[in-house]
Formats: sequence, structure tokens, C-alpha cells
Amino acid sequence: MDCPHCHEPLSVIEIETADGQSHSIKECLSCGGHFLEPYLANFLTVETARNVDSILPKSHAVPTAPPSCPHCGQIMSSIKDDAVPQTVTVFTCPNHHGDFFPKDQLLLFKQAQQSKIYFHKLWGIPLRSAFAVLIPILVIFSLATLLPSILKQVTTTQETRVKASEILTSPLITPLSSTHVLISFSSYRPAKTSLRFTEGQTQSYPVSTSAQINHLLSIEDLRPSTLYKYVIVLDLNGKSVTTSEYTFSTP
Ligand SMILES: [Zn+2]
Ligand SMILES: [Zn+2]
Repeated sequence: MDCPHCHEPLSVIEIETADGQSHSIKECLSCGGHFLEPYLANFLTVETARNVDSILPKSHAVPTAPPSCPHCGQIMSSIKDDAVPQTVTVFTCPNHHGDFFPKDQLLLFKQAQQSKIYFHKLWGIPLRSAFAVLIPILVIFSLATLLPSILKQVTTTQETRVKASEILTSPLITPLSSTHVLISFSSYRPAKTSLRFTEGQTQSYPVSTSAQINHLLSIEDLRPSTLYKYVIVLDLNGKSVTTSEYTFSTP
């Protein structure tokens, strides 16, 4: 059985699900992707996903062609649903043979799923249904709806005024712990992006160093129960645009 992406032979590894059952999953040593039987990803722990995704792939080349199912050869489609975080890529076989997670995507998926469950527990809000956290229907909630991000007038370099809402989506803040958050957003055009804190700390972080649509930044070593403010700087073909401040608080 060959890798959906790079067509190298897949290896089999044994893993244990959250309920203690053992299953095998397929791993590509070349690109670091994983092929899982349908819905198995739902039953892994985050720690298992972290171990599985810690593989060091031989190749870092990003395949351009869509992956094909190792069972039936059909083109696998990426799960595009407003429920799926735009920063996570999961491909699924149209004939339900399984799901393919390119390198690192399994861990990101599990972290998003866990933080959603955490969110619902923390706020006492019932999930719409169990499917709301299960692949292929996964929703990542924005804490921005509860900790409103403040979108003021946009500061731009010169006289050009561009509303931040016209160039990027509201960032999603996903707390993974009280000191570790994921910040994700999408721009409507490919852009290089960075993030600069204006309150809580003063560091800048590169987010996307090449022009991208989807942007994801993981920030660790934050302080618990702290208010942070930040701006996003977009480089659109050499033109720099700075958004107004966004806000989040660590749990
Ligand atoms: Zn591969
Ligand atoms: Zn298939």
C-alpha cells in the first residue's frame, strides 16, 4: 500500500486508542503523512497524536497533486466545511476508506478537537451533537465571540485605508493550556504575515514567511489569566498593512 501523497510504500505502526484498544495506522516515512481507517482519528489521545506526528520525514517537499486513496485510487478531497479549521488539512476518501493527514495535521486536528471540548466544558455550553467534535465534522470555536476582539480603525502605512476585515478573517484563538495558544487566521489574498504584541508582552513573531492564505502561529510561555493585545502585519506584494489591535486572554 502506497502513500496517497508521495506514493512511497507505507509502513504499519501500532497505536492504542483512548479506550485502550490497539489499532494499526499507516505511516509514510518519506513525507511523514498518516493514513487512518475511517474515524479512527477521533479515538486517539492528543499524546498519541503527538508521538505519531513526531516522525521526521525524509522529504519536506510539499506535494502539489491531490492525494489518492491507497485502497481505491480515487482522488481524496480535503474536508472543507466551516466546521474544519482552515489551518488544518485532512483528506478523506470519497468511498470512505479512510483519512489522510499530511505531516503535523493529525496533532493539529487533535489539539483543535481537545480545545473545543475544553471550551464547552469550561463554559458549560452543550455541544450541538457528538459529531460537532468528530471528524469529518469538526468545529473549532473562536473565543473571540466571548472575549470580543476589538477591531478598531485600521492603521495603514500611508494614505491607503484598508479595513482589516477586508483582508483577513478574525483570528481564532485556541488555548491549548493556560500558557499556550494557537492563533489562526486566513487572508483573502496570499500574504506574508507576522504578529506583534502590544500589551502583555512586546515580542514579534513571524507567522508566514512565504505568501500564504492560511496562517497559524503557536505561542508558548504565556502567562495564565493575562490580557494580551496584538496586531497582525501583512505584507501584500511588498505593501505592508497593519491591523488594529486584537485582544485575547489566557485561561
Ligand atoms: Zn508520503
Ligand atoms: Zn478509497
